Amino acid sequence: MLDGVIFIALGHHLVADQFNETQRIKMSIHLTHTGFYAGRRFCESIDDGRNVHGSYAPLNNAVFREQCCNDCLKVWADSYDDGEIFPSWVSAIRNEG
Ligand SMILES: [Zn+2]
Repeated sequence: MLDGVIFIALGHHLVADQFNETQRIKMSIHLTHTGFYAGRRFCESIDDGRNVHGSYAPLNNAVFREQCCNDCLKVWADSYDDGEIFPSWVSAIRNEG
């Protein structure tokens, strides 16, 4: 089992178990694909951070997002089509260029 911050995404609810401030800072959460490429990270990192399916991750939760890998978040934000309605955090990342 993984130690540290265990997030269980149930809809948009977030449950933190075994919360540990040190590990929270050190560990990144990477977003992964679902479907054919299930488990593959959006980014190319091979660190031992946690993997969470992008589709099921509570990405509109700022506390959760703070722990996510920036590269993964950027891939997610860029996956929206222009003209699509998306959350403000997505626009913020897209506007960073
Ligand atoms: Zn990542």
